[in-house]
Amino acid sequence: MTLREAQTAVDRWIKEYGVRYFSELTNMACLTEEVGELARVIARKYGDQSFKESENTSLGEEMADVLWVLLCLANQTGTDLGEELRRSFEKKTKRDCNRHINNPKLK
Ligand SMILES: [Mg+2]
Repeated sequence: MTLREAQTAVDRWIKEYGVRYFSELTNMACLTEEVGELARVIARKYGDQSFKESENTSLGEEMADVLWVLLCLANQTGTDLGEELRRSFEKKTKRDCNRHINNPKLK
């Protein structure tokens, strides 16, 4: 699935089952909440904390939740995430093409 296809699929789902998009501010709060849930799984899976019984342990599920809300925000703000990601690759390649290669901490 491309990012364009994902944006279209989320838009269809929202119109069919979600009635309408939550406001941009609400979705920003939801995005922050989902990032926190992802951080919680990572802290327990790779950090020093342990999972409680019956706690969600799925990294992929939380990543998908983050992506879902980001796709909603992209749709409601008229953002083409595929194009923006392409630009981001271009920007990072121009800016950082030697930076990481020359970083002795990464060797
Ligand atoms: Mg979640």
